[in-house]
Amino acid sequence: MLFSDLVVIGGGPAGMSAALAAAGHGIKVTLLERMESLGGQLVKQTHRFFGSESEYAGTRGIRIADILREKVESNRLIDCRRGSTALGIYEDGVVTFEEGTQYKKVNMDRLVVATGASEKMLVFEGNDLPGVYGAGAVQTLMNLYGVLPGRKVLMVGAGNIGLIVTYQLLQAGVRVAAIVDAADHIGGYLVHASKVRRCGVPVLLGTTIRAALGTTEVEGAVIQKLDSHFHPIPGTEQRLDVDTVCLSVGLSPLTELLRLAGCKMRYIPALGGFVPVHNSYMQTSRSDIFVAGDASCVEEASSAMMEGAIAGLSAAISLHVPSAGILEQRERRIRELAALRAGDVGAKIRNGLAVMAD
Ligand SMILES: Cc1cc2nc3c(=O)[nH]c(=O)nc-3n(C[C@H](O)[C@H](O)[C@H](O)COP(=O)(O)OP(=O)(O)OC[C@H]3O[C@@H](n4cnc5c(N)ncnc54)[C@H](O)[C@@H]3O)c2cc1C
Repeated sequence: MLFSDLVVIGGGPAGMSAALAAAGHGIKVTLLERMESLGGQLVKQTHRFFGSESEYAGTRGIRIADILREKVESNRLIDCRRGSTALGIYEDGVVTFEEGTQYKKVNMDRLVVATGASEKMLVFEGNDLPGVYGAGAVQTLMNLYGVLPGRKVLMVGAGNIGLIVTYQLLQAGVRVAAIVDAADHIGGYLVHASKVRRCGVPVLLGTTIRAALGTTEVEGAVIQKLDSHFHPIPGTEQRLDVDTVCLSVGLSPLTELLRLAGCKMRYIPALGGFVPVHNSYMQTSRSDIFVAGDASCVEEASSAMMEGAIAGLSAAISLHVPSAGILEQRERRIRELAALRAGDVGAKIRNGLAVMAD
């Protein structure tokens, strides 16, 4: 059995920020990351990030991952365990995990869960055919393993992820026949939409996928226009010659471990689905468990890093560390997060958090 003041599950931007914030105040941290590399989603992001300047906006995601990884790896208070998948959280403060072929246990005083999110699926005929991918899977194939998912792609979803992955497909020499989105507006930033449009990719709004065609793999796709109530308009079906369908229709927080630990959960669509109820200190209904990043609500890397820092500082404060300036530091991070969420872009998250506080 290992012992640790603080266990952090997840080595993405949120988890690394939590570990660094707590270690900065003398807390011994065990960081569990199931992959062999730290960075979470960032290791696939070759584009320059939007978000907050204090959280590396304008820097490529993969570089942000390097910056955080170097800090974590050089911090002697952080025991960074890669290839370690957390499996369970128990009432007595034990976290179980699989490391290589071994089943291990760590006894913790405080826990930060920063497990990120998983991709949402869409129901349509043929959605189980090989060649239907989530956008994150396409990014992993291309940017981690150097493998093209196909030659001609239909992208479903015109949010930031759909637009960015479309651009990365074009950069890799893949043809993108169209981006379709059921909404009547583009969900992602206009700068990303303009870039793919300039490359000749049509963005078809009020349009969805009806079917992926083929018997053993994708050989085409049927798209169809929707009316203002999202009902298919008969006679508007169009067949596209594609061998890949890429779904970018949202993310769901990965919260199974938090449920297992007995944390109170609520279904709040604006935050991505089932989320752990938490306060502005990122503390869940279990006073020893904190949450950060996409696991708390699906947002972006800047907010994930800020939430991670707040969660790490809160865990340290709850352990009563006599560390100068720690309360002020946490208040500053909370103010920065609120500033990031001000304005139109943050309205959805603000509304979701207001529902949670109800
Ligand atoms: C295509 C795309 C483009 C994006 N562009 C931007 C952008 O420009 N700007 C921006 O701010 N954000 C962007 N984002 C969003 C950003 O990447 C995420 O919001 C951010 O990575 C969330 O950080 P996180 O640490 O919460 O989760 P993640 O980055 O997902 O990290 C979670 C980590 O937890 C690990 N994990 C999960 N379960 C376990 C377990 N049981 N045991 C151990 N480890 C576990 C995972 O392996 C992973 O490493 C983009 C996302 C995508 C997909």
